[in-house]
Amino acid sequence: MDFLNKLFGAKKREDILPIYLFNSLTKEKERFIEILPGNVKIYTCGPTVYNYVTIGNYRSYIFSDTLRRVFEYNSYSVKQIINITDVGHLTSDADTGEDKMMVGLKREGLTINLKGMKALSDRYTKKFKEELKKLNAREALEYPRASEHINEQVAFIKTLEEKDYIYKLKDGIYFDTSLPHDYGQLGGTTKDESKQKARVKRVAGKKQPQDFALWKFNEEIGWDSPWGKGIPGWHIECSAMSSKYLGRHFDIHTGGVDHIAIHHNNEIAQSEAATGSKFVNYWLHNEFITIDKQKISKSTGNTIFIRNLEDKGYSPLALRYWFLTGHYRSSMNFTWEALDGAQTALTKLHKAFLDLGKVNGRIDENYRKRFSKFVNDDLNTPKAIALMWELMDDESLIDKDKRVTLLDFNRVLGIGLYESYKQMKEIFNNEIKKIEVKEAPKNIQELINEREEARNKKDWKEADRLREEIYKEGYKVSDTESGPEIEKS
Ligand code: AMP
Ligand code: ZN
Repeated sequence: MDFLNKLFGAKKREDILPIYLFNSLTKEKERFIEILPGNVKIYTCGPTVYNYVTIGNYRSYIFSDTLRRVFEYNSYSVKQIINITDVGHLTSDADTGEDKMMVGLKREGLTINLKGMKALSDRYTKKFKEELKKLNAREALEYPRASEHINEQVAFIKTLEEKDYIYKLKDGIYFDTSLPHDYGQLGGTTKDESKQKARVKRVAGKKQPQDFALWKFNEEIGWDSPWGKGIPGWHIECSAMSSKYLGRHFDIHTGGVDHIAIHHNNEIAQSEAATGSKFVNYWLHNEFITIDKQKISKSTGNTIFIRNLEDKGYSPLALRYWFLTGHYRSSMNFTWEALDGAQTALTKLHKAFLDLGKVNGRIDENYRKRFSKFVNDDLNTPKAIALMWELMDDESLIDKDKRVTLLDFNRVLGIGLYESYKQMKEIFNNEIKKIEVKEAPKNIQELINEREEARNKKDWKEADRLREEIYKEGYKVSDTESGPEIEKS
């Protein structure tokens, strides 16, 4: 049970409002019914640890953290697993391209062997966990690594072999997707060959384009197996590790929408083929974070990491707050201005919260009910955030009641109020300093001059572009009557 339930009083099961979630399997918002009363098991597809995790990926983890918090808020006991992919994920998501871990090994000049792979995986797994903490995500029960579950994956493939679901090609062992009668349960896939070819690049000899690798032969790097030395295909890790930690049938599986068509359809196919029964009841997927309306992609360099935010003086919690202002099923376009707005709002909130004093009164039941209704309605965090501000401005409530009601909301939102004194300091210590234009580095001065020229020509688009560029360099420019002013983060 959530330890905060002790502090705030756990709700009796009969007082709990129903929770509705949008299930990608049925394409409908459904009332959530757990398998084991009062318990929820969640498997979250984790990162491929060949590099820092992008702010786009973090939406996926803040969404699953919010989901978990909503259940805990409703007095459920939650078991959440986040896997760590440290082998087998190819750059194409299907069976072509280079293993992402190889890309990382080469980039960092590490030796191409299992030891080098472990060093790379250790480095970025550690960063991932540190950053999750900064984003106030609650710790998962386990973060199992694919490379440490080779036996489980081999055993899984063996079961599939015994049931005749696999075939061998020159480069590996494949799953025959024509055999389950219902392959592609989540949609996004088609049996139309021409369309399939475009989406899932063909590997020579595959019976169907959507068939996928369970084991890839590799003499250079890999583990022994009954079929030959190699590495597991990407999808099999999630089936093998989820069944180990959560059982063969569990409540919820989460991930980004990009995983629906290939990774998650394949997980369902192999798990249900192996067990002969249902794998997961609710599939939940978050939409994308874009930058300049484009997909975030490490390969095109169109990416931002948490450390880039921190370098500019932003708190990772401002990113969390910004995520929550949108619904997880709507895509959001990241801009520095948006993050700036989130940080300003969050700072205002923390200051106002401090002004409420240190004494806790009683949770306002009316607000609590409204809040529960919003978050239980497929995690409507934008409405929950708006309600929080309504509460803040509500003069009919006394400070100590307001304080504890805010703390109650914070259990789901996780924006640092409960944990806050230290975190608030971090935010306030990042107070931005104004500097004279002439004190700025030469390239910044040049950008500011260019922007002034654009403004004089009323070319607002160019002026905005330059403002963003100045931002990226770590400076914020504002326009005053006496000319541009800049602040350094
Ligand atoms: P990966 O490391 O590529 O396996 O991605 C980790 C998680 O982040 C997966 O659940 C992806 O679906 C999700 N994801 C990837 N890119 C984005 C993005 N730009 N916005 C939101 N989620 C994303
Ligand atoms: Zn997965």
